[in-house]
Amino acid sequence: MSPLPSSNSLRPDFLIVGGGVIGLSIAWELAGQGHRVVLVEKHEIGREASWAGAGLLPPANPQQAWDPQEQLRGLSHQLFPQWSQRLREQTGIDNEFELTGGIYLARDPGEAASLRIARLQYEEEGVEAERLDQAEVARRFPHLQVDQEILEAVYLPGEAVVRNPRHLRALSVGCRRRGVVLLEHSEIDRWNLDGERLLSVEANGQKIAPGAVCLATGAWSQLVADQLLDEREFPGRIQRPEIEPIRGQLVLLDAGERFFKSPINEGIRYLVPRRDGLVLVGATVEEAGFDKSNTADAIEDLTQFALQWVPRLKTARRVKTWSGLRPASVDRIPYLGKLPGLNNVYLAAGHYRSGLHLSPATAVVMSQLMRGQQPLIDLEPFRVNRG
Ligand SMILES: Cc1cc2nc3c(=O)[nH]c(=O)nc-3n(C[C@H](O)[C@H](O)[C@H](O)COP(=O)(O)OP(=O)(O)OC[C@H]3O[C@@H](n4cnc5c(N)ncnc54)[C@H](O)[C@@H]3O)c2cc1C
Repeated sequence: MSPLPSSNSLRPDFLIVGGGVIGLSIAWELAGQGHRVVLVEKHEIGREASWAGAGLLPPANPQQAWDPQEQLRGLSHQLFPQWSQRLREQTGIDNEFELTGGIYLARDPGEAASLRIARLQYEEEGVEAERLDQAEVARRFPHLQVDQEILEAVYLPGEAVVRNPRHLRALSVGCRRRGVVLLEHSEIDRWNLDGERLLSVEANGQKIAPGAVCLATGAWSQLVADQLLDEREFPGRIQRPEIEPIRGQLVLLDAGERFFKSPINEGIRYLVPRRDGLVLVGATVEEAGFDKSNTADAIEDLTQFALQWVPRLKTARRVKTWSGLRPASVDRIPYLGKLPGLNNVYLAAGHYRSGLHLSPATAVVMSQLMRGQQPLIDLEPFRVNRG
């Protein structure tokens, strides 16, 4: 443990930069191991991609996963119910984690082929995936419009959902209960390095001298890493992380009551029912830089998609629309490891479309790595300088 903080400087064991689901989960995990943790967030905690996302948690099987990416998914899927329960006990906040099952549908031949391949992969991993014919879809999902050609339908009983804004609230309250210092509206204006070591940072006039730092700054991670790496001259070329924002727009409808439970997925679009009758309809996948506006075409397309599958939503009220920026690495695999050229700075970012799902396992392996332990999962495929 580091010595106690003086009045104008903090000396935590770990500093986390970024208060999305990844940063909060890592902070909660590290604090749970008895460490002193400070988290710096430039705006409000938990209001970016992690808030904007849909909270779909597709099934995975940690026992049969051989590939580290699948192991990360499998471990997360195993941890999510445990984390949800512990957070509920600690904070009283119910994140609405629920095993709902999920239906996957295809009307387009290309999407039908992808769905067939996905089902075979699930079967190989020992994840239950039921192929349904049109009559079975109609019988089990009476709210669905089956009077259209469905080329492929698969039901995944192991799919779960979480209400992400509530999960974020539970995590931030849980962090505070574990003694994490959360500094909102706070940005790092100075990185003080000594060779390969980060000694301290300054954030809004506050000096923080941590043992190690983890950048969990989502879609902004390349900017933050560049800012930090620019502070130092490197003898040769170093491989910097590359992360771009991928916009996802969503529409929220209010159906008055929940009349279906399983999320409906087709290609990149989906409908996710919440317990209180709200239905989330998402999402676009767009390169629009850091622009988070909504576009009329996308909102119309998502609304039509919802009505094509669930005609009863015609009477639903549109509550609001929003968008979020998914953090995407070039190969769409998250970066989990040390930042090249620095020995006490780590990066956990680039989770693209699965950051909510992958957050508990990310927190566990990053906490192990940062504490000098052997991570439970081989982090080689996630290393920052993978080229
Ligand atoms: C429309 C949409 C739907 C999605 N659906 C799902 C889903 O169903 N399931 C799933 O698993 N995932 C989903 N995702 C993906 C998931 O939301 C992201 O992968 C995940 O939220 C990334 O978390 P993060 O903590 O890395 O990023 P963020 O939540 O964006 O958090 C990063 C934080 O860092 C802060 N920050 C940035 N720069 C600085 C700085 N210089 N100093 C301090 N703080 C800084 C930001 O303000 C932000 O709060 C979806 C995403 C979108 C947009």
